[in-house]
Amino acid sequence: MDCIFCKIVDKEIPNYTLYEDETILAFLDIFPHAVGHTVVIPKKHGETIFDYDEVMIAELHRAIKKIMERLQTVLQPEGFTVGWNHGDAGGQAVPHWHVHIFPRWNGDGGGSMHSVVKKNDGINVAEIYKRFG
Ligand code: AMP
Ligand code: ZN
Repeated sequence: MDCIFCKIVDKEIPNYTLYEDETILAFLDIFPHAVGHTVVIPKKHGETIFDYDEVMIAELHRAIKKIMERLQTVLQPEGFTVGWNHGDAGGQAVPHWHVHIFPRWNGDGGGSMHSVVKKNDGINVAEIYKRFG
């Protein structure tokens, strides 16, 4: 399969592995946005979270906590931003589900999750809520 992360799993492309178990792999991002910027993936290919069952999703999150603890011990960040880009509009470049872990420091110049998108003009929350029945 022509997927860069599957190639990393298959060891066709080298990586800086921080964590590995039967189903999950985590490695340092090659174009880091922060010291210790880490990418966590299920080894099994799927494009987005919608392609995985609850067991795999739980496994991934269990691994995320372990990796964060390791990053905390080694790098001693003052915080983290953790999340993923989902789909084109969400900024996903690699179509194999992956979670970014950004260790954060006060004054590192980054923003919070809220700085990713800000379209708050005229959104009527009550009206939106009605659409959920
Ligand atoms: P996204 O935009 O969420 O799809 O992010 C994809 C991430 O994968 C980017 O942060 C890239 O820097 C990272 N990336 C791409 N190729 C590699 C690679 N060979 N090793 C490590 N990270 C990679
Ligand atoms: Zn893949």
